[in-house]
Amino acid sequence: MLSNLFDGLSMKKILVTGGAGYIGSHTCKALSKAGMEPIVFDNLVLGHQWAVKWGGLEVGDLLDRDRIVDVAKKVRPEGVIHFAGHSCVGESVSDPAKYWRNNVAGTINLLDALVYINSPPVVFSSSCTVYGITNVDLISENVAVEPINPYGETKRAVEIMLKDYEVAADLRHIVLRYFNAAGSDADAEIGESHNPETHLIPLAIASAAGDMKALKIFGTDYSTADGTCVRDYIHVTDLADAHVRALNYLLDGGDSNLFNLGAGVGYSVREVVDAVGRIVGSPVPTEPSVRRPGDPTRLVADTGHAREILHWKPVNSDLDNIVATAWRWYQMRKQVLSWPGLGADKLDVS
Ligand code: UDP
Repeated sequence: MLSNLFDGLSMKKILVTGGAGYIGSHTCKALSKAGMEPIVFDNLVLGHQWAVKWGGLEVGDLLDRDRIVDVAKKVRPEGVIHFAGHSCVGESVSDPAKYWRNNVAGTINLLDALVYINSPPVVFSSSCTVYGITNVDLISENVAVEPINPYGETKRAVEIMLKDYEVAADLRHIVLRYFNAAGSDADAEIGESHNPETHLIPLAIASAAGDMKALKIFGTDYSTADGTCVRDYIHVTDLADAHVRALNYLLDGGDSNLFNLGAGVGYSVREVVDAVGRIVGSPVPTEPSVRRPGDPTRLVADTGHAREILHWKPVNSDLDNIVATAWRWYQMRKQVLSWPGLGADKLDVS
C-alpha cells in the first residue's frame, strides 16, 4: 500500500494534447505501460471520452488560451506530447481556415503556456504530408519539405514555430513525421474511430463487411504498378512506442531532433484492398473514382534515423497484422459503441 503510494508520487506526469484521439489514446496506453502518468487535454470534438483510460482528462480547447495556461500550471508536466489538431488532407483543401486556426493558432497557445512553466520538452506529431511530391523511393528527413496542401503547410508551420521557441525559450522538442497510421490496439481496448471516417483501411473493412456499398478508389491512373497511390502503413502501436522513446530521449537531456516514422514498405491502394478482402473473408466491393485533391503518388519512409537514434523498430506493422487488428476492433466497436459512425455519406441508403 505504502509502496504503491510512493510509486504514484514518483510517476512522471505527461500532458498529452489530443490524447482522446486515435494515435493519442494508443500513446497514453504505452506511456502508462512505461510507468508514466498521461494527462489528456482534449476538446472531445474528434476524440472520445471512452478512449481516455490510462490517466486523467482535462476537457479544453487549445484555442482557449486561459484554459491551457491553467491546465499547464496545475499539471506541471515533465513532458508534453502534442497530437491535438485536424488531419484530413481533403478537408484542409476545402476549409483551410479550420486547419490554420486549430493546428497553428492552437499550438501558439500551447507553447506559450509551456513557456510559463519553464518549457518542458515537447514531442510533436507532424506528418509525411510535409514532403509533398517527391521523386525518391524512400523519403529521408533530408528530403526537401514542400507541402502541397494546407494540412501539410500547417504541420510545417508548427515545425518552424518549435525551432523559434527553442531559440527564445529553450523549448527542446522532437518532431515525428508519421506516414500512414493504421491498425488498432492488440487487446482491442481502443482503436480507430473517426466520424466521418475517411481513411482507407476502415472504409475498405466497412465495404467488405457489407456496411458500405463500395469503396471508392481515388485515382487509378497514377504512375505506379497498378495505377493507385502507394503509401507506407505503420501500426499505431509502433507509433505509440516511438513516442515513448522520443519522450524518454528528451527527458534524458537529448537535443531536439526530427524523425520519420513509417514501416519503410509501400503498398498500393489495390494491395491494401486485397489484404482486407483476404482477412475479412469477403472481397471489398470497389468503384474507380477521380483523384482526391492533394494526394501525392507515393509516400514511403526511410526509417534509418529513428532506428539509429531512438533504437526504434516497427514490430507490428506487417500489413496483414495491421488489417487483422483493425478488423478485430471494427467488430468490437460495432458491439460496444454507438454505430454506425461512418458518416451519413458513407452509408448505403439506396
Ligand atoms: N483512399 C481511397 N479511397 C478512400 C480513402 C482513401 O482510394 O475511400 C486512398 C487515398 O487516396 C490514399 C490512400 O487511400 O492514396 C490512403 O488514404 P488515407 O485517407 O487512408 O490516408 P492519407 O494518405 O490521406 O493520410
